[in-house]
Amino acid sequence: MKNNSSKKASSNLVSELIQPDLLSFLSNNSPVLQLMIDTLPVPIFYKDIAGVYLGCNKAFEEFIKLTRKQLIGRSVYELFDKELADVYQQADQALFDSPGNQVYEKQIKSLQGDDLFVKFHKTSFMDTDGNVAGLIGVIFDITEQKRLEAVLTKHATLDDLTGLYNRREGLRQGEIHHKIASRGGSQLAVFMLDVDYFKQVNDRYGHIVGDKALQFIAKKLLSTSRMNDVLIRYGGEEFLIIVSGTSEGDAAVLAEYYRETLANSAMSLDDGKQLRLTVSIGVSYFRQQNLQTMIHQADTALYEAKGRNRNTVCSF
Ligand code: GH3
Ligand code: MG
Ligand code: MG
Repeated sequence: MKNNSSKKASSNLVSELIQPDLLSFLSNNSPVLQLMIDTLPVPIFYKDIAGVYLGCNKAFEEFIKLTRKQLIGRSVYELFDKELADVYQQADQALFDSPGNQVYEKQIKSLQGDDLFVKFHKTSFMDTDGNVAGLIGVIFDITEQKRLEAVLTKHATLDDLTGLYNRREGLRQGEIHHKIASRGGSQLAVFMLDVDYFKQVNDRYGHIVGDKALQFIAKKLLSTSRMNDVLIRYGGEEFLIIVSGTSEGDAAVLAEYYRETLANSAMSLDDGKQLRLTVSIGVSYFRQQNLQTMIHQADTALYEAKGRNRNTVCSF
């Protein structure tokens, strides 16, 4: 018997621990709680089930540029513009509908108008009857992390010199177009371009001018391209263009247009002279073969174009 009653007492204690009256505790503005959360450098806030703010810490006041006094007792609709308030309200409701933890990222504007990326971590809490009673949220500023991510993505996908897609990203996109073509969704062609006698540019003018010439060519290719063309710096002075949604006849005309545009362009050198460069182009068309085979066939056609005095388009 004794044993039983002590068991009961301890289970009461456990249930009190599991379901403390967090709602009243948070609503009561405990100075100790305030002191503690004010020492934490991350913004913290808490709201009741109606989405009304119950409190926050100093870091949150600084974050939203409102004082605790202005905040407590108000909902997001009284504090933020409707668009942002809708986002917060919907996220809060989703958390109340399926209680637990919620993490999401959001791009917001600071009061100074700067773009900020923040990550919300929210958790719901229950009242003593076990019903959802509110939420506690923490905000992490991930703007710098996002900026670094964008820089890394750029470096991982674009060629540093020309800004065109690098080989890895270009092939990844090429495979997507190839998949669509394989399902009969669209036609596909690949152009392999190689700058003619490019070694002579380096030999005559130096590597820096050579680099500028590659940038000039990339710019011309970009301005000549249509929206769907995927432009890739495939190797040193070789470019690959993935052309989708175009008939064989039109693709051949487009390859010729790229060749001609480059042949008719001239890059101005520092001494005022003009540098004219041409490209040879090999073209292959999708006929159920895989992308690597298409590229290999375009390469073979390119080799033929080089043999035909360059500045020429050949199809496989
Ligand atoms: P072909 O008409 O047969 O293509 O002759 P080519 O001189 O263009 O061919 P080759 O392959 O012999 O030479 C390519 C040259 O491209 C050699 C290399 O120094 C140069 N090259 C490759 N990448 C770069 C680069 O990033 N910058 C510069 N400046 N030159 C590069
Ligand atoms: Mg080459
Ligand atoms: Mg070359």
